[in-house]
Amino acid sequence: MRKPKLREVGEAVKALLRGPVTTKFPFEPFEPCEAFRGQPEFHEEDCIGCKACAEVCPTKCIEVFDDLHSVPPKRRLVLHYDKCIFCGHCELNCSTEAGIRLGKKYDLACFDRSTCTETVENELIVCEVCGTVVGALKHLLFVAERLGAKRYANPTLILISEGQYGLAEADARAGHGDSTREDLMRVTCPRCRRMLVIRELWGE
Ligand code: SF4
Ligand code: SF4
Repeated sequence: MRKPKLREVGEAVKALLRGPVTTKFPFEPFEPCEAFRGQPEFHEEDCIGCKACAEVCPTKCIEVFDDLHSVPPKRRLVLHYDKCIFCGHCELNCSTEAGIRLGKKYDLACFDRSTCTETVENELIVCEVCGTVVGALKHLLFVAERLGAKRYANPTLILISEGQYGLAEADARAGHGDSTREDLMRVTCPRCRRMLVIRELWGE
């Protein structure tokens, strides 16, 4: 019976000498450790709008809005960090490995949850034949760069990447109507490309 009591006294003396192990937050700021997983933050310069982060998020707290009526069309990713579980999957699966990172912000309490958002926007490219979304401009450029010379097998990637140098303006190839041979050399979605190739090979 006496030994446990002596041990408790020993621990109490050690605690007195060591000082408190708890932090003084919120009275004093707390500096999180290097690997801390705080509020996820988009980094616009490295985000290509591929929405991979939204697809892997287990709580579905990243919403994707494609606004086809704005000029140019835009994709907006809205992260609701009040629903985030700080798992880090978005950061881990980000295509550029830098478009979204879990920062060190941890004091996230608020009175209005609708204000707990983090947003990033990217320009969208739409199919010149049917108007559906092909992808974000920066995403297509990212893919074209990764493919190198192989991008020249895909007219959409040729037009998007070469268009950056002013060599293939959209006006120069517009107005060919529905599914003519010239449409093969337009920015198209996969479905329209398939239909155009089938018509070109086998006719109507
Ligand atoms: S940390 Fe996890 S829950 Fe939070 S946004 Fe990223 S993937 Fe979603
Ligand atoms: S680049 Fe990263 S942050 Fe941007 S949409 Fe893709 S996965 Fe999300």
